Amino acid sequence: MAKPVVKKEYTLTERIYLWEILKGMKLTWGHFWFNFKACWRPGPHTIPTCWQYPEDRTREISPVFRGEHYLQRDDKGREVCIACGMCAKICPAKCITVKKGKREEGEEDKYASKTYPASFQIDLLRCIFCGFCEETCPKNAIVLGREFELARFSKEECILDKRKLLLNYRKAKEEGKLKPPKKRVPVVPAPPKPEKAEGGEIKKSKAAAPGKALKKPVEKVKSTEQVEATQNKEAAEKEK
Ligand code: SF4
Ligand code: SF4
Repeated sequence: MAKPVVKKEYTLTERIYLWEILKGMKLTWGHFWFNFKACWRPGPHTIPTCWQYPEDRTREISPVFRGEHYLQRDDKGREVCIACGMCAKICPAKCITVKKGKREEGEEDKYASKTYPASFQIDLLRCIFCGFCEETCPKNAIVLGREFELARFSKEECILDKRKLLLNYRKAKEEGKLKPPKKRVPVVPAPPKPEKAEGGEIKKSKAAAPGKALKKPVEKVKSTEQVEATQNKEAAEKEK
């Protein structure tokens, strides 16, 4: 049912707008004086609503922030990536390229696993920083770090190769910006498969299924010869 529109009668103060303008100005001036007084407070963040970036870089970054990627090394300084390609597979922007290499004898101190990424590229221009690569990595090898200054002067600089990714790791380590290792979600084993039901049980279950009528067994029509043969057999048995 349609709702009837009632035309509101405005009062005189509402019609001249003066009171409403004064109310708005009061709010604006309140904010202005609050920020103006805050300018003279001691401390790095003088204005509470503004961060004085880039002069002031002391602002804490959220622990869940996703910035520029780096490739981790283990405690012995070896590359932990196994070049499984799962990050490249899951990447929605298709901006990761991984080429696998096999570890040779004597390279155990360089690579933690038998396989390693011979080349690893991330195109930052296409990356949407979703973090799927980090989530899916089985070795916690790829991490989206805390580096947020991503401006570059050329497209080529936006391609992160393995050398840059490892350099990012070293830089983050030196600056104490490494992310703590993630707690892996425990893998719940799949429930055991139900054993194959026997023929009788399957029939029962079929009958119990709603909307499915039981099929009547079709009687085989006997031929006249077969009927005669059975009649003769019965007669012979009676004579005995
Ligand atoms: S970074 Fe992780 S997911 Fe990607 S190839 Fe290396 S081990 Fe696999
Ligand atoms: S953050 Fe997302 S888009 Fe960027 S490389 Fe990782 S999976 Fe791809």
